[in-house]
Amino acid sequence: MSEVVRYERRGLVAVVTMNRPEYRNAQNSAMTYALDAAFTRAVDDPEVKVIVLAGEGKHFSAGHDIGTPGRDVDVSFERKAVLWWDHVGKEGADQRFARESEVYLGMCRRWREIPKPTIASVQGACIAGALMLAWVCDLIVASDDAFFADPVVRMGIPGVEYFAHPWVLGPRAAKEVLFTGQRFSAQQAKEWGMLNRVVPRADLEAETFALAEKIAEMPAFGLALTKKAVNQAEDLMGLRTGMDSVFGLHHLAHAHNAEVGGDSLAGQDARSMRDANRTS
Ligand code: ZN
Repeated sequence: MSEVVRYERRGLVAVVTMNRPEYRNAQNSAMTYALDAAFTRAVDDPEVKVIVLAGEGKHFSAGHDIGTPGRDVDVSFERKAVLWWDHVGKEGADQRFARESEVYLGMCRRWREIPKPTIASVQGACIAGALMLAWVCDLIVASDDAFFADPVVRMGIPGVEYFAHPWVLGPRAAKEVLFTGQRFSAQQAKEWGMLNRVVPRADLEAETFALAEKIAEMPAFGLALTKKAVNQAEDLMGLRTGMDSVFGLHHLAHAHNAEVGGDSLAGQDARSMRDANRTS
């Protein structure tokens, strides 16, 4: 079996690549923990100045794994992001809150605080849980064929777990994206301020590395402090506390779905979500 995440060094840049292209890089927990290990390796390597996050194949990522044969929601991993009990063996909201606090919200926050600049290099699909990965990166370079969506309102859920939408899109665009669940283009995302660069597909890698190498000329500690400064400013604009309050609404929605229909995702799976998005 090939590695779900690849790690390589190119000069001063570490490249972390999601590697489940046969499933459009759907993120299972195995991938989450492999990403965490790769980021940790890049942080621990004093030669690495900048980290690039990429996806192998046609698509950056289709989001969380809600239907591949490698789905592993009932598997225990050594927890890294939050000090909470393991979700395995728990029931209902207790189970969901434990798991999502660790592998979704907690991991995303942990990666947002990586003390080196991170750049997401995005092509093709960047859907729902994939937005979370792109958003925790400091910069986003997308190819002109990239498309984005958070369609989880169709499940009755107010957005993915890492609720950065109003901060990265602005409130009005955030509402449009969530209310319709429709795809939006790289150009649209750029206009809303969500992306740094939109480049031709053939140039994505070169443009991402050119930017990474430019940043790598700066002193490491200065970059770390600057990143922290902007992140702190964003938190003062309510990002962190806002996200905490919305995480409660997110889990109210999961619990409501489970209470009225017996399934926390309102009976939706990868196929039904894709089909609904095709016809919308
Ligand atoms: Zn959730």
